[in-house]
Amino acid sequence: MSLFENTLKQINEAAEIMNLEEDILTILSHPKRIIQVSLPIRMDDGKVKVFDGFRVQHNDVAGPFKGGIRYHQQVDMEEVKALATWMTMKCSVVGIPLGGGKGGIIVDPKTLSTRELEQLTRRYINRVQHNIGPDMDVPAPDVNTNGQIMAWMTDEYMKLGNINRRGVVTGKPLECGGSEGRAAATSQGGSIVWEEIAKEKGIKPGETRVVIQGFGNAGSHMARIMGEQGYKIVGVSDSKGGVYCEEGLDAPCVLKCKVEKGTVIECESQCGSCKQITNEELITADCDILVLAALENQVTEENAANVKAKYIIELANGPVTPEADKILEKNDVLVIPDILANAGGVTVSYFELVQNEAGYYWSADKVQRRLKPIMIKAYQRVSEMMQEYKCSMRQAAFISAMDRLSVMLKTRGFE
Ligand code: NAD
Repeated sequence: MSLFENTLKQINEAAEIMNLEEDILTILSHPKRIIQVSLPIRMDDGKVKVFDGFRVQHNDVAGPFKGGIRYHQQVDMEEVKALATWMTMKCSVVGIPLGGGKGGIIVDPKTLSTRELEQLTRRYINRVQHNIGPDMDVPAPDVNTNGQIMAWMTDEYMKLGNINRRGVVTGKPLECGGSEGRAAATSQGGSIVWEEIAKEKGIKPGETRVVIQGFGNAGSHMARIMGEQGYKIVGVSDSKGGVYCEEGLDAPCVLKCKVEKGTVIECESQCGSCKQITNEELITADCDILVLAALENQVTEENAANVKAKYIIELANGPVTPEADKILEKNDVLVIPDILANAGGVTVSYFELVQNEAGYYWSADKVQRRLKPIMIKAYQRVSEMMQEYKCSMRQAAFISAMDRLSVMLKTRGFE
């Protein structure tokens, strides 16, 4: 089953529970626009190589399409469609005036030189320039894309149009119009939601062990934040594998070590008394909270029954399959779904866009003060829906999102 089919399954399930009108469901099951582009670039060896790129614009009833651009060798159109659909839902869960979009290029950026990476990035913007913009569609970072890549995208867009609209892309470095707090925002948002749940359940950080899969933007910030709050981080991993440390590990040390050595598995003895484990072992390792911050389809019907954590925080998009969801629910594992748990990232991206358009910049403290109430309100609404419809938190999050989208679509009209 493709990732987009998984997404449709989630939407259909929630639609049935909330008794959503069929017309609205049909609209939300189809992306509004799909763009596919060829990206020829001259490689360092002098030869031309063509890469495939995508942009999917799912829905813009709430505001401009919004969503990251992923550089990965396994990107495909079905994946981008799924990610774009989740973006529409995510923006609606937190109630920000943005729609959903997503992009991707089939490439392993680690195999490119800096010059090739810049060329590829600029070519992508050249191809989609008429379909993006602060009023139309606003890309951002995702897996394997970062502030530097966002800076090249912004520069190319402004050069091509001879305009100064840096709100075309978010997740930019501060010196190029980025927002304070954007880098940590996804994890910050997840942590704010988690703290609400921890308060309700009476969970004490000092007695709670956390395993984190993925040690990039989302995962490494989450390790730092939860470590600072007193949680015991017992396991982390990246694409090369993981480390498990019964006594806990020092998250800032792993971060420094990963930068130096390129992977967390080399930090085995430097940041705690750890042993190396595989990513498969990490998912079923002994812990209380499992944070998924890598890629989709990590907890599946094959390994879900062996998950020992009682809570899963989905910082990644789609890390738990619909089949795994059912097994986890039966085993009383509470899954805090992606469209709520990782919505802090797009919320601060929205703040960045607002600051760019206003030409007036906020302090880190102001960003924090504005993010927190949005995340708490979103969680409370999802929690209310959970009680009203007696459903899972994922179903409640989709209901919360589609309820808002449905009102907008009906009020505005969609013929
Ligand atoms: P990133 O590229 O910074 O980091 C990805 C991490 O996952 C890396 O450490 C990589 O080594 C690791 N990884 C890749 N494959 C793995 C595997 N099979 N097992 C274990 N680790 C693996 O990306 P990111 O921005 O941190 O994004 C991670 C996830 O969070 C994605 O699903 C993304 O869509 C989602 N997300 C990110 C943001 C954001 O603001 N960065 C916002 C919302 C959602």
